[in-house]
Amino acid sequence: MDPEELRRFFCDELGEPKYRADQVWSFMYKGEGFEGMSNLPRKLRADLEEAAEIRVPEIALKLVSAVDGTVKYLFRLSDGQKIESVVMRYKYGLTICISSQCGCRMGCRFCASTIGGKVRDLLPSELLGQIIAAQKDMGERISHVVMMGIGEPLDNYENVLKFLRLVNMEKGLGISYRHISLSTCGLVPKIRELAKENFPITLSVSLHAPDDETRSAIMPVNEAWGVDRLLTACREYFEATGRRISFEYTLISGKNDGVKDAIKLATTLKRYMKDGIHVNLIPLNEVEERDYKRGKAEDIKRFCDTLGKYGVNATVRRRLGPDINASCGQLRRQSEDK
Ligand code: SAH
Repeated sequence: MDPEELRRFFCDELGEPKYRADQVWSFMYKGEGFEGMSNLPRKLRADLEEAAEIRVPEIALKLVSAVDGTVKYLFRLSDGQKIESVVMRYKYGLTICISSQCGCRMGCRFCASTIGGKVRDLLPSELLGQIIAAQKDMGERISHVVMMGIGEPLDNYENVLKFLRLVNMEKGLGISYRHISLSTCGLVPKIRELAKENFPITLSVSLHAPDDETRSAIMPVNEAWGVDRLLTACREYFEATGRRISFEYTLISGKNDGVKDAIKLATTLKRYMKDGIHVNLIPLNEVEERDYKRGKAEDIKRFCDTLGKYGVNATVRRRLGPDINASCGQLRRQSEDK
């Protein structure tokens, strides 16, 4: 519930004064149950127990990387569904990567999250709950959020929008929009809608190929909106919001990682985006069920250097948590197999 819904709930359903809602609000974001809300009368706590439900996802499994301290959570939701979140430690603080759906229906060929299809969308409470539960468990503030876990956030648009409004609120999690990134495989109409909201978040677009032929072979979503429509929407997003878009490009050996691909990528992006282009290169994380391979380190470097030579700023994503299978979707699948 947002603050207004919560106030209405206290007035209309429980016949309580509005300020009770504000008292409950801050406890909610600490991951506290009703019994722990010591500033509420005992009778009210009992009434709340009857009338409402308050919970965060349960930790089903927690893995801590011995290499870099990255923490991966497998969370169990109230209906038994499982999702993953990863907490990474950077110089500027803790970043959590959260899931947006149970499974995914986008079908990207190289991705583990989409293999079993989509089961359901996550609710705003479950999006927030991943942060609240992880923060409580770590005993430290989480300051940055990336929506790059399981699922396609723009395929769960209404819930994600409500989440974005709530995650930012003071006395709740208070996470600045500038510390939030949302990654999409490119649902063009939703990118347009999001532009109208004008959240100062960072939009990341999973491009992964410089042309329709290459992109359609690895991302079925490209059949619906090809590279031209996607990059046009990206340009319009930038013009409307003033926020730079970050492009993700997963390098798959022999599929999209040649010098020719790099040149085509640079020239194509420059045609649409004019300036401020940033490409985030992700060396493929090999997925057992898929045949795709990660390229050699020198191929990855050559791709990155070629983009630079053609005037496009690119960085290679650092791999965190290599010993705990920290890339998205793989743990959920393993737990389902069991
Ligand atoms: N649905 C959103 C968020 C997905 S995950 C999106 O498509 O952007 C975040 C990034 O990881 C995406 O760019 C996705 O394409 C990429 N990715 C998925 N599986 C991968 C793998 N096996 N290796 C490397 N990157 C992968």
